[in-house]
This record gives sequence, structure tokens and C-alpha cells, in this order.
Amino acid sequence: MIKVEQLTKKFGDNTVLKGISTTIKQGEVVAIIGPSGSGKSTFLRCLNLLEQPTTGDIWIQSKKITNPKINKLSMRENIGMVFQHFHLFPHMTVLDNVTYAPQKVKGIKKEEAEKNAMELLEQVGLTEKAKAYPNKLSGGQKQRVAIARALAMNPEIMLFDEPTSALDPEMVKEVLDVMKDLAKSGMTMVVVTHEMNFAKEVADQILFLDDGKLVEKGNPTQFFKEPKTERAKDFLDKIL
Ligand code: ADP
Ligand code: MG
Repeated sequence: MIKVEQLTKKFGDNTVLKGISTTIKQGEVVAIIGPSGSGKSTFLRCLNLLEQPTTGDIWIQSKKITNPKINKLSMRENIGMVFQHFHLFPHMTVLDNVTYAPQKVKGIKKEEAEKNAMELLEQVGLTEKAKAYPNKLSGGQKQRVAIARALAMNPEIMLFDEPTSALDPEMVKEVLDVMKDLAKSGMTMVVVTHEMNFAKEVADQILFLDDGKLVEKGNPTQFFKEPKTERAKDFLDKIL
């Protein structure tokens, strides 16, 4: 589904990704963990070309997206992204937030977009908020709307960048539960997270980044029980 080969990214002369290679299969849930500043967000943003890789190649469903001729916009239709800070459209109702892109980008008729949106709002437990504006919602509700909005484009891959880091503790679970359901439904997911229990329970694969390098990858049972590298051990010792 996703193949990354020798990916590097520089900002000026700061090299923040230093040759990352990995593959992600269809339906896999991958958790990316590592210290702050290690390049997790940059890696995620390279996967949908929100950041342009400096060198290296990325294939998404056999399409080489690092080919300069790629149509970035149509490539991104297939990849949903959820950010730490929701980024809902504040002047639109929940329903309009969810129906906007399918109508605008895919030309889906309003009625159909709304029917689809109501199903997604049901999936994230927010049908009763369809007509509300984002400023009337809690952080957890906003993030669930953001997930519904991303799903409305019917993506094959979902990227999450610390989706629960900006939430009050009591709202973390409702968002993780929605993500768990999504994982169970077979969605391919790449999740940057500090929620180690989520990573343990839901991820098929852990990628541990440190200082722009993929220091360790493995299945969660092995990674959390017996990390192979000192750096992963140190990191887990500090946070667990
Ligand atoms: P993480 O998500 O693991 O905390 P990031 O990918 O956000 O790490 O950042 C990795 C490094 O890249 C940091 O040193 C950060 O300052 C730098 N960086 C990230 N985005 C930019 C940018 N747009 N311009 C310049 N430097 C950036
Ligand atoms: Mg980050």
C-alpha cells in the first residue's frame, strides 16, 4: 500500500529525515512514536506531499508520488489527514464541514453528500451535532468531526498526527475508540501518537523515530517488551 525508500527531508541545511525506508500493507495500523523533534510529523506530511521530500521515493498503491509529474491534489483525495488541532472550518456547521470537500472536490450532489455525512456522524457518535457550529463542541467532539470529515472523501489511507494530544484527558478515549473502530473496519492507518496503550493494543507495526532516523521497527508486543535498541529503551523508560 505504501512504500518509502531512502526518504530524506531537509529544511535549509537542517536534515530532519535521514534516509527512512519502510513498507505499510493494506489494512495495517502503524504507530509512529519517538521524541519530540525526531521527525514524526515531517514523515507523515511527506506521505501526502504536504512536505516535498528532498531525496528518496514514496509509492502509494504502486504510484510513485515522488514523481514530479504527479497530480498532488488528486493523490491527496485518497489520503485523509487528521491533525492535533482539528482545523475545522469555524464558520460552517458540522454537517457543512463534512459535506464541503466531497461536493467541492468530487462534485457529489448536496443530498448525497449529506446522506453520507449523516452516516459518518453516526459512526463517530455525533448525529445530534449536525447543525451545531464547531465553537459549541468539546475538543473530543471536534476531533471526531475532523475524522468524519476526512472519511467523507472515502480515502484508502488515514494519517493521524497526535490526534489526542490537544485534548483534555477525559476526551481522549472517545477519539481513540473511534480510531479503534476504524482500524477494525480495515482502514490503513498511520498514527503519530504518544498513547502507548493505543499503540500496544491497536497497531500492527511500531516505527520508532529518533533524530530523523527509523531506529527500530517491529510488532508492538516485541517492541514494548524487548526493544532492541538502547535509544528505544531509554525512550520507553522515560515515558512508561
Ligand atoms: P516531531 O513531529 O517528531 O516532533 P517534526 O517533524 O515536527 O518532529 O520536526 C522535526 C524537525 O524539523 C524539528 O527540528 C523541526 O524544528 C523541523 N521542522 C519541522 N517543520 C519545519 C519547517 N516547516 N521548517 C523548518 N523546520 C521544520
Ligand atoms: Mg509532531
